Amino acid sequence: MPDNIERIYSSLVPEDMKDELYWKDGLNPEDDRLWVPIGPGRWSRPLCLNVSQGYWVHFIKVTEPGIISRHRHPAPVHGFVVEGKWRYLERNWEATAGSYLYEPPGDVHTLVVDEGDSMITLFHNTGALLYCDEDGEITGTSDVFDRVKTARNHFEEVGLGADFVKNFIR
Ligand code: FE
Repeated sequence: MPDNIERIYSSLVPEDMKDELYWKDGLNPEDDRLWVPIGPGRWSRPLCLNVSQGYWVHFIKVTEPGIISRHRHPAPVHGFVVEGKWRYLERNWEATAGSYLYEPPGDVHTLVVDEGDSMITLFHNTGALLYCDEDGEITGTSDVFDRVKTARNHFEEVGLGADFVKNFIR
């Protein structure tokens, strides 16, 4: 938490409480280095990397169209589209700015950004993403610890320091 935020209620809260998270500039950080590259034309802007409950909340930004990933969810996902649009190959709806979605445990889908489109979406992911091929075979996974590692490496590379990732960890 930034030093300039005063805890005026500090005498009322339990001493073991974790620090809150507050990102005034969540969507449009002044420093572009907060967008962690996760592939060509794809970024993740971490908001909360919750290692004690195994979930993460972030903005995903995609500027290069194509198949982003096919994956299975062992745990629920909540999403909110902020800008642009995208869709799942397996669905007949489009996610557009203002759309909310809930992805139930067990859901398998293929996220596509069509030619000429881009998007920014807030996702709350629990557990892991299980990447899979067309037959549903698992080809890779990504959990909150992988997210921490990727962000840590990026922050170190761009000069913010490896420990910068701790700002997002709870
Ligand atoms: Fe999904």
